[in-house]
Amino acid sequence: MEFRPMCRKRQELPHEECEKILENGTAGVLSVLGDGGYPYGVPLSYAYKDGKIYFHSAVEGHKIDALRNEEKCSFTVIAQDEIHPDEYTTYFRSVIAFGRMRIFDKMEDIIAGLRILGEHYNPGDHAGLQHEIDKSVAMPGGISRTRVAVLCMEIDHLSGKEAIELVRAHKNG
Ligand SMILES: Cc1cc2nc3c(=O)[nH]c(=O)nc-3n(C[C@H](O)[C@H](O)[C@H](O)COP(=O)(O)OP(=O)(O)OC[C@H]3O[C@@H](n4cnc5c(N)ncnc54)[C@H](O)[C@@H]3O)c2cc1C
Repeated sequence: MEFRPMCRKRQELPHEECEKILENGTAGVLSVLGDGGYPYGVPLSYAYKDGKIYFHSAVEGHKIDALRNEEKCSFTVIAQDEIHPDEYTTYFRSVIAFGRMRIFDKMEDIIAGLRILGEHYNPGDHAGLQHEIDKSVAMPGGISRTRVAVLCMEIDHLSGKEAIELVRAHKNG
């Protein structure tokens, strides 16, 4: 299918700017096809690396059940929401990614995903991160088991938009 173009082209952010927003962000809203056909938008921390968005999650619950049912999803990050009360508007910047979610099942992928997430939130603390990963990934009797799920969103379409006031401000230097 074709993804929709943005109605207000002038406000569209270039791809590199969308990626910057994803790289610098800490949380967004993951939208999935939830129970009973109700859209379920759930706030989540994430990390963006090499064109993919990584999440960690409990191994059961509404979001993961929904994703097992339907891999298609979208993820929204608000980078800026600066209210200007006198103008009755907000100077906003945001991105929306549409894509498909993979739920990792191989232990090596789960651990790699946890490393990406850990590095994003606490870069450089390799020992601390390893300790945290060991706590989430138990291996009783040598059998690998995990209490945490790692989700990886492959992006099919990425768009970013900013308020017209910000477009004008960039233009005026
Ligand atoms: C900024 C932020 C970052 C977060 N980061 C993570 C993360 O990285 N990983 C993670 O697993 N969780 C994170 N959470 C918690 C997350 O929003 C969910 O609560 C959690 O993932 C459980 O989702 P679930 O669908 O499995 O919950 P379930 O308990 O199965 O959901 C059942 C119902 O509870 C309600 N519910 C669930 N979560 C919320 C919520 N946040 N607010 C209001 N109602 C809710 C909904 O009605 C939902 O249908 C974060 C929350 C915030 C606000």
